[in-house]
Amino acid sequence: MRDETPNSWEARADAASFYGFTDLPSVRDRGTVVLTHGEGPYVFDVHGRRYLDANSGLWNMVAGFDHPGLAAAAKAQYDRFPGYHAFFGRMSDQTVMLSEKLIEVSPFEGGKVFYTNSGSEANDTMVKMLWFLAQSEGQPERRKILTRKNAYHGVTAVSASMTGKPYNSVFGLPLDGFIHLTCPHYWREGRPSESEAAFTARMGIELEETIAREGADTIAGFFAEPVMGAGGVIPPSAGYFQTVVPILKKYGIPLISDEVICGFGRTGHRWGCEAYEFMPDAIISSKNLTCGYFPMGAVILGPELTDRLQAASDAIEEFPHGFTASGHPVGCAVALKAIEVLLEGTTGAPPLIENVNALTPAFEAGLARLANHPHIGEARGKGLMGALEAVKDKSNKTPFDSHLSVSERIANTCTDHGLICRPLGQAVVLCPAFIMTEAEIAEMFEKLETALNAVFDELT
Ligand code: PMP
Repeated sequence: MRDETPNSWEARADAASFYGFTDLPSVRDRGTVVLTHGEGPYVFDVHGRRYLDANSGLWNMVAGFDHPGLAAAAKAQYDRFPGYHAFFGRMSDQTVMLSEKLIEVSPFEGGKVFYTNSGSEANDTMVKMLWFLAQSEGQPERRKILTRKNAYHGVTAVSASMTGKPYNSVFGLPLDGFIHLTCPHYWREGRPSESEAAFTARMGIELEETIAREGADTIAGFFAEPVMGAGGVIPPSAGYFQTVVPILKKYGIPLISDEVICGFGRTGHRWGCEAYEFMPDAIISSKNLTCGYFPMGAVILGPELTDRLQAASDAIEEFPHGFTASGHPVGCAVALKAIEVLLEGTTGAPPLIENVNALTPAFEAGLARLANHPHIGEARGKGLMGALEAVKDKSNKTPFDSHLSVSERIANTCTDHGLICRPLGQAVVLCPAFIMTEAEIAEMFEKLETALNAVFDELT
C-alpha cells in the first residue's frame, strides 16, 4: 500500500503533519491515505483509488462529498459577507436566521442558541454556562459534572474530562469534579443472569447513590449522548432515560443531551432525545449541523436554562465568553441549507431524514446477517449508526487479546477492499452517509464481510 518513493504523498504527510487519534505503527506500516476529493459517499486518494466511506467522514459528511446546494450556499455567503463575529452587539443576518431556525426545529418551546467552532467547544461552553449559573445563583460549590464511562464529549480540557475514556490519563485528566458513571451497555456491563430491566434499575440506583454521596447541591449537570457514538455505538439499555431523567429532575440537576452525532437525523429522528423520548434542558450540536461543510458547534438552550442564564447575564450586563468565529456567517448560511437538506427538503429533493428511515431496514438486516458470524458477539445500532463487536469466544463474550488489534486489522483489510470503516475498541463502527442507496449499503456489508472472514481466518 505504502508508496515508498522519495517525496511521495505518504512521506510528505509523515514529515510535516503531527498525527492525532492515529494508530502510528499502522500508519508507519501502511502509509497515510491522502485524499483528494469525493463523489457522493465515496472518497478518492492521490493514487486514484476509490473508497466507500462507511464513516461519512467523522459521522458528519451525511449529505455526501459533493452536495451542490451546500457548496453553493457557502459560495454565495462568501461572496456576500465572508466573515464576522457575534460580539459587542453585532452579528450577521445569517446568525439571526439560524438561531430562529434551530429553536424552531429543536424539541424546545422557545430557547436560545450560542455558537462555537466544534462539539468540544460547545460542551466546554455548556459547562461554563452551568458554572456561571452556580456562581450567579449563590451556589458556587455546584460545579461537579456527571457523565458516563465510555462517553465521548470532546478533547478540550473540560470536554476531555467529561469523556470517559482511559486514554485521557496521558494528559493527567480528568480534572477534579468530573464523575463517570457506568456505561449503560447491557450486553457488556450486565451481570450474569441480570435482566435488562434489572440492569437499567441498577443504573438508576448508581446515579441516586452518587448524587447522595457527592451532595446534590455540588452537581452542576449530567451530560449524555442519546446513543454513545465514539464509545462504540452503544444504545442505552431499555428504559435508561426513563429511569435517570426523573432522578435528575428530583434533585434539580440539568440534563444536557450531547447530540453532536445523534442530532439531525442519524437515529431516524430529528434528535436522539426524541428517539428515546426524553426532554433535556439543553442540546449540544455540531457535525451534521453543517453536514460537515463548515466547522461549527452550537449550544441550544431550552427555555428554563435560557431564562436563568439571561437573568444571570443581565445582572452583570454580560456573558463573558465567545469565540472569534462564533456564529460565522458562512457557517450559519451552510447550516441553514443543511437543515433544509436534512429535515425540510429542497425543491425536488425530499429531506434526507426520510432516506435514513428508508435505508434503516436494509442497514439493520446487514448488521443482523453479520451478527451470525461466529466471532461477532454483538451487532447493535440505531437508525444509520451501527457496530459489530468482535469476540474470541461468542459463548462467554471473551474478547480477542488486545495486542492482536482485531478491529484495526478488520478496518485495514476493509481499506484494502475500498471500504473505510472505523475500529473502536474491539468493534467496527458503521455510520453511512444519509444519501447512500440500498446498493451502496449492500456494497458496504459485502466488503465488510469479506474483510471479517479474511481477518478471522487469519486469527483462528
Ligand atoms: N460530542 C460527541 C458526542 C462527539 O461525537 C464529538 C466528536 N466526535 C464531540 C462531542 C466533539 O466534537 P468535535 O470533534 O467537533 O470537537
